[in-house]
Amino acid sequence: MIYKCKNCGGDMEFDPSIGKMKCPFCDSTESEEVSTGSEIKDGDVATEETAQELGYSAAGNLLCPNCGCEIELGKFTSALRCPACDSNIIVDSRMKGEYRPEFMTPFKIDEKKAKEMIKQKFATFKFAPRDLVSEARLKKIQGWYMPTWFYDMDTTLDYRAVGIKETRHTEGNTEVTDIDSYDVNRVIDARFGRLPVDAANDLPDEMMDLLAPFDTRESVPYDSRYMSGFYSEQYNQTSAELLPRAEKQVETFGRSMCQDSAKKGPQGTYDRHSNEQMNVQYHSVIPHYGLMPVWKYDYTYKDQPYPFYINGQTGKLVGTAPVDSKRVWSFAAIVGAVAMAVAIGLSFLIDYPWIVGAVIGIIIGLITGFANLHPAAGKVTVNAATYVAQENRNLRIATDGYMGRETKTRQLNNNNVNKK
Ligand SMILES: [Zn+2]
Ligand SMILES: [Zn+2]
Repeated sequence: MIYKCKNCGGDMEFDPSIGKMKCPFCDSTESEEVSTGSEIKDGDVATEETAQELGYSAAGNLLCPNCGCEIELGKFTSALRCPACDSNIIVDSRMKGEYRPEFMTPFKIDEKKAKEMIKQKFATFKFAPRDLVSEARLKKIQGWYMPTWFYDMDTTLDYRAVGIKETRHTEGNTEVTDIDSYDVNRVIDARFGRLPVDAANDLPDEMMDLLAPFDTRESVPYDSRYMSGFYSEQYNQTSAELLPRAEKQVETFGRSMCQDSAKKGPQGTYDRHSNEQMNVQYHSVIPHYGLMPVWKYDYTYKDQPYPFYINGQTGKLVGTAPVDSKRVWSFAAIVGAVAMAVAIGLSFLIDYPWIVGAVIGIIIGLITGFANLHPAAGKVTVNAATYVAQENRNLRIATDGYMGRETKTRQLNNNNVNKK
């Protein structure tokens, strides 16, 4: 289906800055639907007679509702732009039944803002290739509604570790260290809410983890009007197939929650823990299917892809820029030359050979060069509190059983370590 402008017949697009559909040609916000065929069900086969009606060619390709050209659809594509006429097409048949998203988060960051954010982010990065933020390259930026599974999970986390506390005192020439061990147990009932796992093969797993979180309180029930102007896919993997990735996150977040709680016992703060173990019990797992807004900018440098992603709701940007090594080394050469001049100059004031000054300059130049060859990637700001609200965690058991003491002594004058 496509949305046409009621006023001029132009192709409507969702405009995140106003939160509505807008005609890019006449600015009208009144639209009407043009269907690709009335009732398409999954598994409908287009024959010579029914093809047109179903919106498919006899060869099984999608027919553009606007220009009628045949479009070879990607395996999962559910919203796209017609390569021939640029109309925004929503493939209704791929948004039905089990593939109908329960909710979605509309884009809040529009294309212009997304481009500005990329420019801003790399304005300070002086070693990026010059065309990284060029208008021509940035044109390729694309808005994606990322198919995402959100898991609600009721769990019990059972954490065990040995808590160690050390106290030290000296007796004459001997340092005595008492090492007390405690059997630490924490049992926390934790309800994880809307833990996201992306269901698109094209998005590297770790990217979604970096882009998260999405604030699902701002989500709306699925509505195809938000899709117009964006690319989308139906989920590539089922919620059951992706459950292990959700469980992995439960392990990570659950462990850090338990560790926080186990930092202290009745006798004070532990110096460290050893033999950590955690067992997770799942009481219920409820998956929800949603679409999340992501801007994707594919940049290629020396045949290497450098994908950038922006959370279309929060504006969080992740991705690592390539480094133009020529720019790095010309900068490092200048820094090295300046350092060398200073160091050689100083060799005449303070008494050391000038060659040492030259070597210092070269070393500083090399350090500058190598330090700038690897720019940092996006940083992770997701923690357990993101998915387990304070009221959804209950510390049920907290015991710290005393296991005994081990004493180590050390002669202070000759550094011998004895174990008693
Ligand atoms: Zn119009
Ligand atoms: Zn078309």
